[in-house]
Amino acid sequence: MGSERTTHGDAANRNLAAAGISADPFADHVPQLLELVNDLVFSVSADSLQVLYLNKAAETIYGRPLEEFRDQKDLWLDSIHELDRKNLLHQLKTIDGKTKFELGFRIVQPDGTHRHLEATFWKVDNENGRQIAFACIAKDITNRIRREHELEESKAIYHSLVESLPINVFRKDREGRLVFVNNKCCKTFGQSREQLIGKSDHDLFDPELAAKYQRDDKWVLQTGLPFHDIEFHPKEDDSYIYVEVLKSPVTSSSGRRIGIQGMFWDVTDRKKAEISLEKAKDIAEAASQAKSDFLANVSHEIRTPLNAVIGITDLLIGSSVDSTQQDYLEMIRDSGQSLLTLINDILDFSKIESGTLSIDSEWFDVRERVGDTLRSLAHKAHDRNLDLICNIDPAIPVQVLGDAQRLRQVLVNLVGNSIKFTERGEVCVDVELVRKKTEVEVLKFLVQDTGIGIPKEKLTAIFDEFVQVDTSSTRQFGGTGLGLAIASRLVKLMGGKLEVASQLGRGSQFFFELDFPVGTNPAIPSALEDLSDIPVLIMARSPANRESLETILKSWRMKTFCVGNVEQAIKLTKGMSFANQPIQIVLAESGPTDSSADEVCDCSLLSYRMRQDPEIVEPRFIALVRASSRDGFDLPLQASVACRLLQPVKHSELRDAIIQCTKLVAELAAVKQQTAVRALGPYRILLAEDNPVNQKLAVGILSKYGHQIEVVDNGLKAVAAVAAQTFDLVLMDVQMPVMDGIEAVKQIRSNEPPGCSKVPIIAMTAHALASDRQRCLEAGMDDYLSKPFKALDLIAKINQLVAARSTEHGNSSSGTGNNRARIDWNRAFETVGGDRNLLKELIGVFLNERESMVNDLIKAIQNKDWAEIRRSAHSLKGALNHLGCVAASRIAEKIEFPAGDMTDQVTLHCEDLQNHLGQLTGELVRFKNSQ
Ligand code: ADP
Repeated sequence: MGSERTTHGDAANRNLAAAGISADPFADHVPQLLELVNDLVFSVSADSLQVLYLNKAAETIYGRPLEEFRDQKDLWLDSIHELDRKNLLHQLKTIDGKTKFELGFRIVQPDGTHRHLEATFWKVDNENGRQIAFACIAKDITNRIRREHELEESKAIYHSLVESLPINVFRKDREGRLVFVNNKCCKTFGQSREQLIGKSDHDLFDPELAAKYQRDDKWVLQTGLPFHDIEFHPKEDDSYIYVEVLKSPVTSSSGRRIGIQGMFWDVTDRKKAEISLEKAKDIAEAASQAKSDFLANVSHEIRTPLNAVIGITDLLIGSSVDSTQQDYLEMIRDSGQSLLTLINDILDFSKIESGTLSIDSEWFDVRERVGDTLRSLAHKAHDRNLDLICNIDPAIPVQVLGDAQRLRQVLVNLVGNSIKFTERGEVCVDVELVRKKTEVEVLKFLVQDTGIGIPKEKLTAIFDEFVQVDTSSTRQFGGTGLGLAIASRLVKLMGGKLEVASQLGRGSQFFFELDFPVGTNPAIPSALEDLSDIPVLIMARSPANRESLETILKSWRMKTFCVGNVEQAIKLTKGMSFANQPIQIVLAESGPTDSSADEVCDCSLLSYRMRQDPEIVEPRFIALVRASSRDGFDLPLQASVACRLLQPVKHSELRDAIIQCTKLVAELAAVKQQTAVRALGPYRILLAEDNPVNQKLAVGILSKYGHQIEVVDNGLKAVAAVAAQTFDLVLMDVQMPVMDGIEAVKQIRSNEPPGCSKVPIIAMTAHALASDRQRCLEAGMDDYLSKPFKALDLIAKINQLVAARSTEHGNSSSGTGNNRARIDWNRAFETVGGDRNLLKELIGVFLNERESMVNDLIKAIQNKDWAEIRRSAHSLKGALNHLGCVAASRIAEKIEFPAGDMTDQVTLHCEDLQNHLGQLTGELVRFKNSQ
């Protein structure tokens, strides 16, 4: 390579020298510089046939190594394109007078590639003026030539395209003068291109249209945005056309907007079609509106008399008609009801079809609304002995924004169908939070049943209107086939899709998802009381029901235990009592059951069994009743059953019931602490009080605890009453008309014979100073209560005073005084849930039955009939216990389960029991006859 370079360098030097370029200090570098340039530099002999020098660029431009030129001196010429070669040779030959010329030619590389060169040739003479060579510098302009070709080509394509387009294309300069129009444009205006170029809109259109076009053009130039419009063009012959136009700015390479370009085409036919379509639509909508109005009117007209038919039938059903008439009337009512449902369905459907049904948006509580909806369907489900269960995901927010009314309509339909098509088992509604996005919460509603199911081939069609699976003439289920069509359209209107999955004979699932926007509603109810860790027992027949209740209670962080029958409940409760973690609340199903004896699941039975069991700390009960088994509602609440809830339970009701129970449990605990005080009475009390409100209050409190009250409204009457009757206690207001309390007490005390028991007197006054108290005590009162007083304080004071007095005197005038035979009124009231009248009734029943019960027992003892002894003792024990006669009940228990020598024991206990009963009777009778 090095020697090659030297060879070429020498040659270059020679050439330079030959060209008369004198050697200078930089001359030595010239050969190297020539090797570096990209342009082709070469010299050839004066006859042009032999190459004398070629620089390195030749290798790229000729596509050959330099060696080839050394061997083939005329290769430089042979490689020039045939057509160009002749011209070049001619120029070289005819250069004569000139010293140089410029020429373009092509070189053909060995692979056929063409390179375009732009060359300058010089004549090189020696010092004698004789030509000795040609020198040449050639620039490779292949890329430029290619670009020019491409540009030409695209121009040609653009032109042919624009010219062949069936639409009008034009370009204007900034002044609005046409600078280009295509053939179509020329035809449209009926002028040649030459005529049109340079014209403005004012030369071609009427002034109004021209002004609009100029405005549009100006807008495009100013904004740089594309413009689109459909324009109305009136013509001279009074006809018109519609033209659709698109305009955009033309921008120079420097980014300046130099004009606009546009295209327009005739859309008259399309526009006319659209206009007539619009008219047809308006007519159709008006017709549809007329149809809807008609339907609304007709339905109103039908509904009004139908309502009267149903209403009056209802009235008749309630009147005295015989059972056949009753049946006929019920048929009329049911048929009327079906007709009403049908009319409502048809109206809804037609509203949806005509697009007049709109979806509202309001804040609502999903739990409440779904709960209410299911409640309205519960009796249908329960009449068919189906469980209706509702599970609502605790993660769902309290309030959501949507159309509660339409949601209810959909659920009523789906749940109604599920009940209709299910023979046994359950219908379950689940509402689940499936996704929580930043802007929406997606809730999934699922209604599933264990019913007859739907055949696969019918699954897609059931959402069509008037479709029913069973279309036979013998079909079992009524209906119109409109319900699902309405439900699916409503779900669609709310933004969801109603879907179904079903297996014949195994049940169906209908489900849909709805988006609810996330938001904060100010009306969110206040936080729940803290129920965490309260032990609660759930007793329900179906596992699904247990699970549903458990989910709700767990979401309140309660400690839950689930059982399916009374036996399990007793076992579990005993265990918990034993572990000193007594169950506080029991949620138990009640009502008739078809289960076998050991699987009975009934709240009343459970409550009864727990009361009987000394090992169980008795909890509070919430009875879960079915809508059809309202028997639970007709009966008075049993003791310890705090309330009854209809199934499926609503969250809010359950929450309230539990809170009520927890309060009762707390109250009970407080009451138990005071049992000793509250177990006393009932007493005969004289109340001297002139204020009617205070009278009522005191009477209310006192009678609640079983006391008998005599009311007088002044001191004088009080003195007279105490003189005429015996009272266990006097409650004396201090300030009274006619005679005040202080004076009255003085007279009462002075009337009492010495040595005789004094009636306890408690002063009641709003005077709260110590000196007032002193005044009362000095007058002869025993104690003092300042108003306003608490009920429990009053009761405690009364019991304290009367009990102290009875201990002093061995007995009280009407209180029993004998601790063993005392009645625990607190317990008795618990039995009847605080209902005084009911307690009186129970006592009446007991007093009537008491004698024959004891006689049965005595007879059984005489006959040594142990089974009968046990039975009679057991019933006496239960009855006495319920009426608060605790000591007597314990004696009966001893007879039921005697220890030691049976006969002797039982006989002794029986005598003891009779004694007790004798002592208790007076008090029971007094209570029964009290007001
Ligand atoms: P219908 O008034 O007849 O109940 P729907 O549109 O509500 O009208 O229901 C259409 C049909 O779909 C019903 O007749 C019944 O054949 C079927 N179907 C709907 N829900 C259920 C379901 N839960 N179980 C079984 N079949 C169902």
